[in-house]
Amino acid sequence: MQYVSTRGSAPKLSFEDTMLTGLARDGGLYVPETLPVLSHDEIAALAGLPYEEVAFRVMRPFIGETFTDEEFRAIIDRAYANFGHVARAPLKQIGDNQFLLELFHGPTLAFKDFAMQLIGQLFQEALKRRGDRVTIVGATSGDTGSAAIEAFRGLDAVDVFIFFPDGRVSEVQRRQMTTPAEANVHAMALEGDFDDCQAAVKDMFNHFEFRDRVKLAGVNSINWARVLAQVVYYFTAATALGAPHRKVSFCVPTGNFGDIFAGHVARKMGLPIEDLVIATNQNDILHRTLVNGAHVKETVQPSISPSMDIQVSSNFERLLFDIYDRDGAAVAQQMEALKDQGGFTISQGALERLREGFASGRASEEETSATIARIYEETGEILCPHTAVGAKVAAEAADPATPMVTLATAHPAKFPDAVEAAIGIRPGLPKRMADLYERAERLRHVPNALPEIEAAIEGSIRA
Ligand SMILES: *Cc1c(COP(=O)(O)O)cnc(C)c1O
Repeated sequence: MQYVSTRGSAPKLSFEDTMLTGLARDGGLYVPETLPVLSHDEIAALAGLPYEEVAFRVMRPFIGETFTDEEFRAIIDRAYANFGHVARAPLKQIGDNQFLLELFHGPTLAFKDFAMQLIGQLFQEALKRRGDRVTIVGATSGDTGSAAIEAFRGLDAVDVFIFFPDGRVSEVQRRQMTTPAEANVHAMALEGDFDDCQAAVKDMFNHFEFRDRVKLAGVNSINWARVLAQVVYYFTAATALGAPHRKVSFCVPTGNFGDIFAGHVARKMGLPIEDLVIATNQNDILHRTLVNGAHVKETVQPSISPSMDIQVSSNFERLLFDIYDRDGAAVAQQMEALKDQGGFTISQGALERLREGFASGRASEEETSATIARIYEETGEILCPHTAVGAKVAAEAADPATPMVTLATAHPAKFPDAVEAAIGIRPGLPKRMADLYERAERLRHVPNALPEIEAAIEGSIRA
């Protein structure tokens, strides 16, 4: 299988090169040239299989020649071995035909573990075979960085440096980044905010001499392998609820559009998904896009669901490519307008295709808190604020005849302040990480200055 750029002018790549490259050289994102389609019988046969087996069958066609079946099975097994639930992504009923898909049983308690754990093992295998190594740098507002450090710790082909805004991540998020003891992972507290962290990472990638010297690589949410890993749980959930014999809908708390785009891929592979519902918090650029066809940035308003506080939703470009009939030049033009003029209007035909496939809704801060309280009262389940945004929108979008699955993207203990404010209960960490607050922390403070940052990296990599 070959991968093409959404902007149409970068070389086609194999799965392995797509994964190791990340962003395409024309500024676009890589997507498969054609999507594999599973037959009705192949989908029916997935029901009830172990998560790892479904993962193998769903992802195998995308891998091409990069790994043998045996290697790929071993990679998947290692990726999900540290999850705290045998089902990996269990379903829980919260109302008539309303379900939660719990994606927070991984090592850092958010759905990002599904993709990051896999990508850690994929990188390690591919690099080991090439006799090569890389330095991974990333910026985080919390969840991505902890998932990356957890996924790459102890892997000998990779050194990881995660930059987070000093003093601006939650204590659980910070400790998840600073307590792993392995020498190849580094939590970097940068003097500045999240935008400064992102800018620093971008500057390193644009400093080609440094980039080549340390073999810089990225694992941010535009990496195709991350999207691919997330396609799997749409299949496990839908087949558990009766697919392919009946349709299932999903409501997805959305920021960078990676998780919901994986649902779009699952549907194109033949999974009978009725609605894919985009749920946003008060940072509602995607909801506004569906309502009026204008994709226009505003300033980010910090919320109690911080992992969705986003105005530029990078993976939305992948959907644009599809709704513009895979016209890379048209996508490139729209993305230029987003950068230079802060927005663009979607063409009428593309908007119709967008609305055929997706619905949307938003939750204000008050509605998010009220939903945490309502679900707790009705079911005893405690939701994290991101999941609550999803549950609020799902309740509005639900059609009683079709199961509606809300993706539960994080464990409530990751966001204890918002939960306590809503229901007066401070959610505790799962037993397997109850000692997080006692573990020793290790972090490095860096100024917001490129030379110092690069020197800190070069002084720490194991070459
Ligand atoms: C990252 C994240 C999201 C948003 O997911 P996208 O793939 O960026 O749309 C939602 N909830 C939580 C808890 C997250 O960490």
